[in-house]
Amino acid sequence: MAVVPASTFARLSNPSRSTTPSMVLGTATVLGGSVAGLLAARVLSDHAASVLIIERDEPDAGDDQRNGVPQGFQIHALLPGGLSLLERWFPGFTEQVIAAGACAAPATARRTYIDGVRKVIGSAATMLTGSRAFLEGQIRERVLALPNVKAITARVTDVVFDGDAVSGVSYESSGMSSVERSDLVIDAMGKSSRMAEWLEKKGWERPPLRRMVVDLNYATAVLRREEGDPAGNIHLALKSGKTSGDASGAMFCRIEGDRWLMMMAGYQDRKPGRTAEDLLRVARQEFPPEFELVADNELVEEIRTYRHADSRRRDYHLVSKLPARLVAVGDAVAAFNPVYGQGMSSAALHASCLSEYLCSEPELAKPARAFFALQRVVVDAAWDISTGADLALPHVDGPYPRGYPVLRWVRNQISAASVYDREIGRRFDEVTYMIQHPSSLARPGVLARAIAVNLWSKFRSRP
Ligand SMILES: Cc1cc2nc3c(=O)[nH]c(=O)nc-3n(C[C@H](O)[C@H](O)[C@H](O)COP(=O)(O)OP(=O)(O)OC[C@H]3O[C@@H](n4cnc5c(N)ncnc54)[C@H](O)[C@@H]3O)c2cc1C
Repeated sequence: MAVVPASTFARLSNPSRSTTPSMVLGTATVLGGSVAGLLAARVLSDHAASVLIIERDEPDAGDDQRNGVPQGFQIHALLPGGLSLLERWFPGFTEQVIAAGACAAPATARRTYIDGVRKVIGSAATMLTGSRAFLEGQIRERVLALPNVKAITARVTDVVFDGDAVSGVSYESSGMSSVERSDLVIDAMGKSSRMAEWLEKKGWERPPLRRMVVDLNYATAVLRREEGDPAGNIHLALKSGKTSGDASGAMFCRIEGDRWLMMMAGYQDRKPGRTAEDLLRVARQEFPPEFELVADNELVEEIRTYRHADSRRRDYHLVSKLPARLVAVGDAVAAFNPVYGQGMSSAALHASCLSEYLCSEPELAKPARAFFALQRVVVDAAWDISTGADLALPHVDGPYPRGYPVLRWVRNQISAASVYDREIGRRFDEVTYMIQHPSSLARPGVLARAIAVNLWSKFRSRP
């Protein structure tokens, strides 16, 4: 059946879609127990008698940074698209995690600046903030409470085959090697997953890798929240490249424990905010006054940095020689420039793909092409948003999509108008928040309105 991107995306992102549990699997094994693996396990619990998560880090690593998730300390916000799907998988999730310490950021609690200009309120949808470890911990608690899901601490070392199908994995734990047999294996081992090498080693085809080098430097600080601090839970300031300075963007958001996380990002040799002094200097010189106010608060922990070299996707949908009984989710398939905050929401949408695939009671003896066709819609949408914006950066030089000059012009019109116009702002936000498919912006009425808004704002700003 043909997959139509816009309607498929609408189905996958629909939080009120009901699921009919069907036991099509005896056992399912999830490799990696981070956000994508946990959400896949939640979906599998509706379709497998038993689900095993194999994660190399200890589950009780708590709020400390886990080795397996080097980005764990950096600022993370859960976009509305992902949050609504978490409600689908765990009804009552938002209210419960807020009670546990996470912070809601409805439209009125968010401030966004583009090149120093405050953006109008667009989408009314709510985001969620909390440290990544906290958010992941909340999801893990719910997944491991499911009666047919369990987790072990072990390092997956290879996949095992039986004819044309994956039949399990081998893993190491406390110096011992074992094999786990399984009816379905899910790769959720993140960006550094070695599944492609394992497939190639056994004579299968490696999924083609597409990369866009972005060379991004992140620094995140944890700061005490103090009396007189700004109201609102998310403050984001982005620069389009027209303005100078060390940072390309900064954000602070409220997290559990009455604290702020403040992030600064810079490209190539620009590495802003790596010391308390530099954080304060850049906040003062390059961002609206509330950034300096918060940067001056007590630093609770040392500032931690992260380098994101590239956005990358592994196109499983293009593989012609693919074994059956294997799927992949989350960053193992596609990881984007983190500035756009798409990772956890993409993982939630991949879980929706898995749900739709298993609800269709697929022929498991054949490769999971129907799953990868659904997932491609989600990856294409997220890739379009993040790489489309990154191509406008002076140091990023492709790969360019077909018709790029026209796409860029349209994109510039809409993003410029979204700063001033509530209707365009709402539509633009709904796409970047992963609620709507990007094609919802490609309607003639939207473009015509954006052009009119931009002409009007140019006319108004004439001396
Ligand atoms: C700097 C930065 C900021 C980000 N900010 C945001 C944000 O604001 N919002 C957002 O939604 N997303 C954000 N993301 C993306 C987000 O972190 C990921 O998309 C999200 O964690 C889902 O990833 P995952 O579960 O696929 O992989 P990961 O989180 O990378 O987890 C992979 C898991 O697999 C395990 N593993 C790996 N190999 C093995 C093995 N051999 N055996 C057993 N276990 C193994 C690891 O230990 C780990 O637990 C950001 C990313 C970065 C880099």
